[in-house]
Amino acid sequence: MATHPHRKVIIIGSGPAGLTAAVYAARASLAPLVIEGEPSSTSDQPGGQLMLTTEVENFPGFPEGVQGPELMQRMRDQAARFGAEFLTEKATKIDFSGRPHRVWVRDDEYSADAVIVSTGARSLMLGLPNETALIGHGVSTCATCDGFFFRGQEIAVVGGGDSAIEEASFLTKFATKVTLIHRRDKFRASKIMQERAFNNPKISVRWNSQVTKLNGDKKLESIEVTDTVTGAKETVAISGLFVAIGHRPNTDLFGGVLDMDETGYLVTQPGSSRTNVPGVFACGDVQDHTYRQAITAAGSGCMAAIDAERWLEHQHATASK
Ligand code: NAP
Repeated sequence: MATHPHRKVIIIGSGPAGLTAAVYAARASLAPLVIEGEPSSTSDQPGGQLMLTTEVENFPGFPEGVQGPELMQRMRDQAARFGAEFLTEKATKIDFSGRPHRVWVRDDEYSADAVIVSTGARSLMLGLPNETALIGHGVSTCATCDGFFFRGQEIAVVGGGDSAIEEASFLTKFATKVTLIHRRDKFRASKIMQERAFNNPKISVRWNSQVTKLNGDKKLESIEVTDTVTGAKETVAISGLFVAIGHRPNTDLFGGVLDMDETGYLVTQPGSSRTNVPGVFACGDVQDHTYRQAITAAGSGCMAAIDAERWLEHQHATASK
């Protein structure tokens, strides 16, 4: 058990939002500590969801594209260059009830005047054995990010909610045919989205179907689809599978402390990164279920650092009056 020196700013999470907040906070001489997470195969590892992607072609400034992990390493290096420090562990407990705010990593206690929460979100996955290994190699959770790679191909989308239909509709810009694979015989999606799917000649629906196997070693080659009514199995050759069965924000740490919407995303005050707790700011996917892009996360990380800096200045000015 150890208590560490007090800080002005702690940043929890190290995807594009947390690292951009770290660059800005470090350049503002706030010497942030970034509790960046620990290596794992999920999106709450250091670097977040981009560590699970391959080529990123839509992050401005990289006309030739950049590998997701390389982009995150460059952001991390940039933050470190200005004095951000990193702790490669997961935050395990928080106490935002008094001043300073306190964050624990196991038994070690860290305190700060301001905390920036950028713990991200994770895509729900099917839970198939080689699913994570095939992300970026035929399996994707983001049509906006990866649709372009499937030009002229036949692909499939799993899910029956608004996200699945939105992804499928978007993917018809690139693919010759998109099959929506849904485990029931009715969509959960809103009527208007359903009509969009039914009216799109490039979209076909495979009802009562569950993807039960992903075949391919280095690259997705085919999927096994099981009929949820009859149990019949079929192998379907396919080069791209988009999993669109929902997302979960990484907000378990903040239950009962930070305001969340009904799906667990943190709520920030409109036009800012402020949460309901003074001195605690949120940015990136943990508070955004709409855009979920690296660039929007980075933008909101910049907002959080500026909001924290201004808030700290205001506290300082008030205290010295
Ligand atoms: P969702 O509404 O929870 O839908 C998830 C879908 O995935 C459901 O159809 C579900 O099947 C299926 N599913 C879940 N687990 C599965 C599994 N293990 N295997 C196969 N299928 C599985 O999630 P969402 O579509 O991401 O939407 C989340 C929220 O965002 C919703 O409120 C939605 O309206 C909103 N949203 C809105 C828009 C828009 O309006 N443009 C776009 C995207 C999202 P069952 O139906 O059988 O449960």
